[in-house]
Amino acid sequence: MPRKPQAPRPPRAAAPKGLDVEPRDVGSRDVGPLEPEVFDPQAIDPLADLISPPRGAKSAAKAKSTIKSKSATKAKSAAQPPVKGGAKGAARPVPAAPVPPPRRNKAVANAAAAVHGKTVAAWSDEEIVEAFSRFEAQNPEPKGELDHTDPYTLLVAVVLSAQATDVGVNKATKGLFAAASTPAAMVALGEEQVAHYIRTLGLYKNKAKNVVELSRLLLERHHGEVPRDREALEALPGVGRKTANVVLNIAFGVPTIAVDTHLFRVANRTGLAPGATPLAVEEGLEARIPDRFKLHAHHWLILHGRYICKARAPECGRCLIADLCRWPEKNF
Ligand code: SF4
Repeated sequence: MPRKPQAPRPPRAAAPKGLDVEPRDVGSRDVGPLEPEVFDPQAIDPLADLISPPRGAKSAAKAKSTIKSKSATKAKSAAQPPVKGGAKGAARPVPAAPVPPPRRNKAVANAAAAVHGKTVAAWSDEEIVEAFSRFEAQNPEPKGELDHTDPYTLLVAVVLSAQATDVGVNKATKGLFAAASTPAAMVALGEEQVAHYIRTLGLYKNKAKNVVELSRLLLERHHGEVPRDREALEALPGVGRKTANVVLNIAFGVPTIAVDTHLFRVANRTGLAPGATPLAVEEGLEARIPDRFKLHAHHWLILHGRYICKARAPECGRCLIADLCRWPEKNF
């Protein structure tokens, strides 16, 4: 069959004079794969803005800006909280989860409390009375948690409690006090046997040495009795200011305030009696706490620090004095 003659093609439209018409794929061919790093602005010659862009640069720049805008959109949507109901439903933002306060070990927590204590405003007299009235109403007769039967066994237990928990000390003293519960019996038991009974505690060899020696000195200087005197107590091996305060308070009812790791943290975190050292905190507490609360203040604060205002994660939601406390990282 004879072929049907084709209609002549219309001539191509000429480009308007003065305008560049680029081949469609020049850009991608010239710049290679459109990876963002190809267009790293840091890598671009700073003079590039001052000269004419090379052929293909327009497409490349367009591609770059598309990539940038896509990445920005992606990043933005990733940063936003998820929306319930998708794109069709009524978009309701889901509230972001609360950021938990930092968890710190005891030493770091106490150091942070001390730093805070340098800037915090100390409690007013009214706030102090309010706080201790609440402690008293909740627990009128607070007790220590070290097992003992008399001033001597209390003294030994407190000496053993350095860098140990009360629970750990009670486990160790159960056997020790069954074997020796008086200074004379402890000296007779001897350092090696004492060490054996308390071997689960840190520094047990040194503690055993101190317990036997303080027992010997009690016999030699105080007729086997625990003295009701700070200076005499602090002259015994292993007995420092804190131990003397605990013994004077619990065994003899002296209204002393022994500042241990818990009291130090609580006093600084709350603003009750900020201080850079345990002695500074003790002096602040002695000066500020009214006499009627002083006998039990040590126990209320130690129990508060041990069970509520804990080093790593204070339980501010259960705290009696949360409204008075000045700690900025409350954990509700
Ligand atoms: S509110 Fe929190 S940080 Fe303050 S005393 Fe109570 S438990 Fe401690």
